[in-house]
Amino acid sequence: MPRALITGITGQDGLYLAELLLDKGYDVFGLIRGQNNPKAELVARTVPDVRVLAGDLTDLSSLLRALNTSQPDEVYNLGAISFVAYSWEQASLTTDVTAKGVLNILEAIRLYAGSDLSGVRFYQASSSEMFGKVQHVPQSESTLLWPRSPYGVAKTFGHYMTINYRESYGMHASSGILFNHESPRRGPEFVTRKVSLGVAAIKLGLQEKLVMGNLEARRDWGFAGDYVDAMWRMLQQPEGGDYVVATGVTHSIRDLLAAAFSAVDIPEWEKYVEHDDRFLRPAEVDMLIGDATKAKSTLDWAPTVTFGELVQMMVESDLAALTASL
Ligand code: GDP
Repeated sequence: MPRALITGITGQDGLYLAELLLDKGYDVFGLIRGQNNPKAELVARTVPDVRVLAGDLTDLSSLLRALNTSQPDEVYNLGAISFVAYSWEQASLTTDVTAKGVLNILEAIRLYAGSDLSGVRFYQASSSEMFGKVQHVPQSESTLLWPRSPYGVAKTFGHYMTINYRESYGMHASSGILFNHESPRRGPEFVTRKVSLGVAAIKLGLQEKLVMGNLEARRDWGFAGDYVDAMWRMLQQPEGGDYVVATGVTHSIRDLLAAAFSAVDIPEWEKYVEHDDRFLRPAEVDMLIGDATKAKSTLDWAPTVTFGELVQMMVESDLAALTASL
């Protein structure tokens, strides 16, 4: 039975990846940070077969302990401070976790594996936020990185450190440059879930308005369930590599609002949306659109959920949950 260790098990991707690996017959271990982490209960309920280990990406010795206990064939580093807006508020902490945490886990694997480094395959969750002020459209693995937030800078460090460990030590290390990926499990601070929750609440008469920031930004949004499958495929390749994972279609926040309100049969969405500068960021990533040609040809990967289906799925899920709680 292959064994996998996932950092960031409490997040959206951690849960989807754990389900995928358990389905494939893996023995799955998940790293949980902090004393009495409130999300531990979510993990126990959603993926009860995952074996939970205590540890923190900022604590190298805890990572070594987790590796010794889990003896993994594959390590997926999904743990991070992941909310772009928050990364300006706590830039140093974001750097410690999202950047230096990658170095810590790479180094822990190197120390743990000793002379047989080929026995542990590594996945790093890199991000389209590294493209920031985009230097080419669409963005591929060779597009120059120009991050625009402390989060983007931290992810860029992790991306290059992953490449560096591959090149320096011959580690089977892969970096997935994932464009925005969403689901009913997305945190409510992210724009898609904020909108799906808000639209469901407005439809049920529980909320009057949705207060938003920049409506002109464009993102390439896919379904998280599809994207964790790409992660697994990367680690099944004979060599590590870097892969863009994206749908190749871009939409504005305006499009997102129109699609979400239309999913509950409210065509005149502008009436319900207000603006507040507090949702603007010190620097914005205006437009992301990914070129996943390499993932398609090498990994035989393709997205299965369209933007419209994704928005519909999220709004319906929030509508059902809110209705059930009434
Ligand atoms: P990001 O691409 O990782 O920053 O994902 P987000 O879902 O947080 O934001 C996507 C885009 O939505 C960004 O360009 C934000 O500026 C924009 N946006 C506009 N209004 C809001 C809002 O109220 N909340 C969030 N999170 N983003 C917003």
